[in-house]
Amino acid sequence: MRNAGLGSWPARRAAMSPGVTALIFGERRTTYAELYERTSRLAAALRAAGVGPGDRVAYLGPNHPSFVETMFATWMLGAIFVPLNFRLTPPEVDYQLRHSGAVALISAGEVQTEVGLHVRLADLEGFLASEPAEIEEPAGLDDVACILYTSGTTGHPKGAMLTHGNIIWNCYNLLVCVDVASDEITLVSAPLFHVAALNQCLLPTFLKGGTSVIMPGWDVDGCFDAIAEHRITWMFGVSQMFAGLSRSPRWPDADLTSVRSLMTGGAPVPEALIRAYQERGLAFCQGYGMTETAPGATFLEARESRAHIGSAGLPVFFAEVRVTRPDLTPVDPGEPGEVLVRGPNVTPGYWNDPAATAAALTDDGWFHSGDLAVVDEAGHHRIVDRTKDMYISGGENVYPAEVEAAVFEHPAVAEVAVVGVPDEKWGEVGRAFVVPVSGASLTPADVPEFLSGRLARYKIPVYVDVVDDLPRTGSNKVRKGPLRDLPLPTPARPL
Ligand code: ATP
Repeated sequence: MRNAGLGSWPARRAAMSPGVTALIFGERRTTYAELYERTSRLAAALRAAGVGPGDRVAYLGPNHPSFVETMFATWMLGAIFVPLNFRLTPPEVDYQLRHSGAVALISAGEVQTEVGLHVRLADLEGFLASEPAEIEEPAGLDDVACILYTSGTTGHPKGAMLTHGNIIWNCYNLLVCVDVASDEITLVSAPLFHVAALNQCLLPTFLKGGTSVIMPGWDVDGCFDAIAEHRITWMFGVSQMFAGLSRSPRWPDADLTSVRSLMTGGAPVPEALIRAYQERGLAFCQGYGMTETAPGATFLEARESRAHIGSAGLPVFFAEVRVTRPDLTPVDPGEPGEVLVRGPNVTPGYWNDPAATAAALTDDGWFHSGDLAVVDEAGHHRIVDRTKDMYISGGENVYPAEVEAAVFEHPAVAEVAVVGVPDEKWGEVGRAFVVPVSGASLTPADVPEFLSGRLARYKIPVYVDVVDDLPRTGSNKVRKGPLRDLPLPTPARPL
């Protein structure tokens, strides 16, 4: 089916809501009609430079309207969009450009690259064709729309392919779960190269004809200011971003009256965080997913979020979710198992990586998430942790997400990450890295003391580091790899 993919969206929106503001970025406002005009001029210029169906077009830069224009222009041509993480080092960028075989790159800054067509953002205006081109989008729903390199919290990045259909079905899944409306004013606070900002915020808002307010980068004060100035109605963030807001000195007086709903996901969500938002009367829901599922896999509706606090809910409308033992038999209620996902939102595999694709997808289309969950009698999923983050202390499984949630109950803790470290006596023991709330005093010994009586002793971290910040991925998740390699401090409690 022609003209069914994402490349047709700007034309459709320009026809249906030409004067509505599609994007706000600082002082710059772009209507749907203007966005269509600029996108088609960019598509015409890319086509004139030789970009065609199936070619890869990369974008490297912080959040900016040009990201959106490049993405839609690429899709108009039936080409594949490759948004890169702008925090990567030059060799990492080079790897992803080569691995994806990009023929064109649009970048905010200088990049040493052999990619044939390289346009810097500063030169983009001059690059646009003078006239919009009439283009009949050649892509169909099963054609690849994006290659998204995984954030690298587990090692070498893999290029997850998402088809036009994957992304569109994810939009439907989101619209079923969250009442995104045509008058939505969505805050895009996470980086656009990350699947959640793109597919959970910007594209569903675009589909409905709402307005996306794009933040150039994440900062707590900028977020409070944007919510108040633009009367934001909906936003997504990883839990670390929402923790930053709720543990900020501005939290008690912040004007959040415009907000209709908030959604978190992408990382474990401590219940103390959910309660902080619910106590303010906000609809705060949790979703679970990953790049490879475009991303929504399970979702807890706002009306269920008090009754099932801490749960990541039920499978999204158009997907199936199973929690299984290693032999793929279903677990019993309460028994942790691996989450498998199948549906129209699930990736067809990794770009140029048949081995990784075969390891991740079963022959009948189930995607192995590498995450552990338990399912309750009502079918709700509670995400326990990543399989690989679990550690074993004295023969007992410890899930860092559970320990982190307990540490986060301490009012002086702004952020926390827990990893397992080798230990002669117990095999492994916990090590917690805690960032105190600004101005609060916190010593390493305070943490085990606080946890005593709240968690079984084997779960209480032996080592505690009080630190100023935690290493992050581009999408603001904690990168645990570097934490595992640091020299140990003296124990914060007896072994
Ligand atoms: P990489 O694949 O390189 O390790 P990543 O796993 O962070 O990076 P993403 O696709 O951005 O890549 O994140 C998906 C992961 O985030 C899930 O597999 C899961 O581990 C975690 N996650 C997502 N939602 C939740 C949630 N609600 N609760 C706990 N963890 C979550």
